[in-house]
Amino acid sequence: MKCQSCGAEINTDQAMEARGQTVCEDCYIDMAAKPKTCDPWAVYSAKNLEKTGTGPDLTQNQSAIVDYLKKNGPTPPEKLAGDMGLTMDEFEREMAPLRHMEKVRAQLQEGEKVICLW
Ligand SMILES: [Zn+2]
Repeated sequence: MKCQSCGAEINTDQAMEARGQTVCEDCYIDMAAKPKTCDPWAVYSAKNLEKTGTGPDLTQNQSAIVDYLKKNGPTPPEKLAGDMGLTMDEFEREMAPLRHMEKVRAQLQEGEKVICLW
């Protein structure tokens, strides 16, 4: 299916409802006054896995995103993806687990969406 706001291809399980539209997570965040809180169970599981040390390790790209944010602070997703040499699709794929592990999150800063460390 397609995001009704930006037209991006999204999986049904990634679709969000916002203002009567079916949108991708990004657009949902753009529309929301505050960042979306993740599914509590997913966050709980991710945290739990991490604590016991059996959780999935960060991929190279995911570590690089975290390092980048440590160095550069909150960064708009397009710039971050560009500097990492990733397409927005690839970038979103790396971002989803990072969000669930509470490593990074999207935030509105002076009306602009930025990615920052949790
Ligand atoms: Zn969208």
